[in-house]
Parts: sequence; structure tokens; C-alpha cells
Amino acid sequence: MKSLKENFQKAHIVIIGSGIIGKFNALELSELGFQITIIDPAKLENSSNAALGLLMGNMYQKRKGRSWDLRKQSIELWPKWIAFLQKFNKELNIEKPLIQLTTNEEKFKKLEKFIDKNNDINLRILDKSSVFIKNINKAFQTKNIRGMISFKDGRINATSLLKTLDKSLKHEKIKFLKEEVIKIRKSENHWISTTRNNEDIKSNMVILCNSLKAVDLIKNLSHNVKLKPVLGQAIELDIDEKEVDLLSLPKQFSINGKNIITKSKNKLIIGSTDEYGTEPEENQVEKLTNFLNEKPNWLMKGKISRRWYGIRSRPDGEPSPIMRKIEDGLIICTGFYKNGILLAPACSKWVANEIKNYLS
Ligand SMILES: Cc1cc2nc3c(=O)[nH]c(=O)nc-3n(C[C@H](O)[C@H](O)[C@H](O)COP(=O)(O)OP(=O)(O)OC[C@H]3O[C@@H](n4cnc5c(N)ncnc54)[C@H](O)[C@@H]3O)c2cc1C
Repeated sequence: MKSLKENFQKAHIVIIGSGIIGKFNALELSELGFQITIIDPAKLENSSNAALGLLMGNMYQKRKGRSWDLRKQSIELWPKWIAFLQKFNKELNIEKPLIQLTTNEEKFKKLEKFIDKNNDINLRILDKSSVFIKNINKAFQTKNIRGMISFKDGRINATSLLKTLDKSLKHEKIKFLKEEVIKIRKSENHWISTTRNNEDIKSNMVILCNSLKAVDLIKNLSHNVKLKPVLGQAIELDIDEKEVDLLSLPKQFSINGKNIITKSKNKLIIGSTDEYGTEPEENQVEKLTNFLNEKPNWLMKGKISRRWYGIRSRPDGEPSPIMRKIEDGLIICTGFYKNGILLAPACSKWVANEIKNYLS
């Protein structure tokens, strides 16, 4: 019987899809000694490149179940990932804290109850006496915004994260094929991934990290995976700096479910909407700025300088995400319709454990 190490060094793993999930899996498995090939035809046109990078883990109000377990594990794993990735980009960091705000009395009471019950020193209520809240209410010309602050949550710049991951993948000599996989099949003890150019890539294992398209590759196998496309949009707004002091606002926060990033003294980023489908609807962009009963003038006059969207996959009939062994040597990691950036460390850890068990 071969040792675990020998099994690892010999095994070749193909990862289909190079969004955040594919890249994290590739790095985690390469660190364990596997030979990795990532296959993706268009690595920049994915939902990972559209993400705002908010890591909303500790502020999640349901403190039990699978979703909480994955978040909790990711929160614990992120510092190790940052330390590892900083070897390739010293600037990469998680900007903390994260602030969640509401104008709804009932929702605020729920936040108070949640914080009261959990006794977590990293979470605090922000009421009207807080300087944060005073500045936010002043900027948005309201009196009723309140919320909570999480010192353990924050934001990572998703573009910079993906670029840094690419650098580290290159350093680890992970092979990258700019191709589309159109078919996978099992042949004796191996998997064959066939590309659109008719190239067959042989591997011991395949990990499907290609979001919505994962279903196309397994439709001939007996499985029960259903996914729906969910579109998310974001805008960058140019704001007249004479009308509002954007720098008095927190760097990352959400109001009534809309995520906001203060980019500079005259630029705000707002995202994301959730729309079923694959084509953005014009009026949804307008909705991004409608998170208060009355919009302040400066927000009304804000000019959209950039607009983008990404298509996520949402599991149909089961909770998000889907991380499952489908057959011997075939794993699926998809359905990260929200929080894919946050959950990537927990996902790659799960995959690594699954493979260790399979090969031992
Ligand atoms: C506007 C917006 C804001 C968001 N904000 C946040 C946020 O603040 N925090 C957060 O945690 N998450 C956020 N998300 C969600 C996050 O972006 C997703 O959960 C995450 O990117 C999913 O990553 P993925 O790797 O599964 O998919 P993707 O990034 O979509 O990657 C899938 C890859 O598979 C490739 N592929 C497809 N078919 C094939 C094939 N046949 N062969 C080879 N390759 C193939 C594609 O080219 C693509 O590169 C946001 C999403 C959007 C759209």
C-alpha cells in the first residue's frame, strides 16, 4: 500500500472553473502536493470579478446549522490565507469593521436581541449616541438609521484578491488551460475532461467549480443538482463632494440590505441586487439607490461612472452552496450565489479533507 504522501504526489487533479472557488481549491490542494490543472476559457468574466468583497460572517444572525458552520470556519481560516497571500501582495488585507444598518424599528430590535443573546465582544449595537450613526444620519439626511458594528467582519478588495491568487498559482507552477470543458467521463480509474478544441485531459480527480455550467457536465451521470441563475449588479457613483462629506462615512457598510463602499471623497460603490435571470434589467440599477424613504439630494444627483454585473448560481431545492462528492474522483463545489468570497476558505478546506479521506 502506497503512503498518503506518495498518493498525493502522484495524483493529478483537474479543476474546472477559475473563479474564487476554483482558485482557492487549486492553492489548497497544491500545498498538499497534488499536481493541479485549472481549466477555464474566460477567467475574467465570472461572478467573482463582480464581487464587492464584503465578508459578512460573524454578523450572521442564525448561530447554528450548516450555513453558520461554514461562515464560522471561514472567519477562522481567513487570517491564515491573508498571511499566505501577503507573500505575493503586501497590501492585501481585510479592511474592518463592517457595519449593518437599518431604518426599520423591528429589524433594529432583532439586532439588539441578537447581540444581547450572543454576548460576543466583537459585535456591538450602534444607537443614536454613536459617532458613526451621527455622521451617517447627517450624510443621508435622516434621523432613524441605527444598526450594529462587527469588528471581526470587513471587506477584501475582490479584484486585488483574485490577482494575488493568480500570482500565487503561478508561483506554485499550477497549470492553467484557457479552454472550455465540454464533457467529462470516467475511463477505468481516470477521469477525462474534453475541451472544445477536442483535447482530452486525463486526471485522477475532477473538481467542478464552474458555477451554473457544472450541471451541463454531469447531466449524463445520475445526480440531482439543479441550479438557477441569479444576477447581481453594482454601480460606482460620482458624488459632488461639496454636498456631502463621504469621508465621514464608514468604509464599508450596508443600509436596508444594500451594500455600500466609500471609495473616496467623491465616489461610492453600491451593490448588489438579486434578480433571477441572466440579463440585467435597467430599472434594477435605479433600485440600488432606493434604500431610504427619501433619497438625499447628493445621492439623487450622483452620476453612474461604472456599472457591472455578475451571474451567480443558486441551488434549486437545496441550501447554498452545493459541496458534494458525486462519484469516486468527482467533486462538485457550486451554488455560491452569495458569499462565495467569504466562504472560499471553508470550501477548499472541505474539499481537501474529502480528498484526503478518499486517497487514504
Ligand atoms: C455584484 C456582486 C456582488 C457580490 N458581492 C459579494 C460580496 O460582497 N461578498 C461575497 O462573499 N460574495 C459576493 N458576491 C458573490 C460572489 O461573487 C460569488 O459567490 C462567487 O464569485 C462565486 O464564485 P465561483 O467561483 O463559484 O463562480 P465564478 O466566479 O462565476 O466562476 C466560475 C468560473 O467557471 C468558468 N466556467 C464555466 N463553464 C466552464 C466550462 N465548461 N469549462 C471551464 N470553465 C468554465 C467560468 O468562466 C468562470 O470563470 C457578489 C456577486 C456579485 C455578482
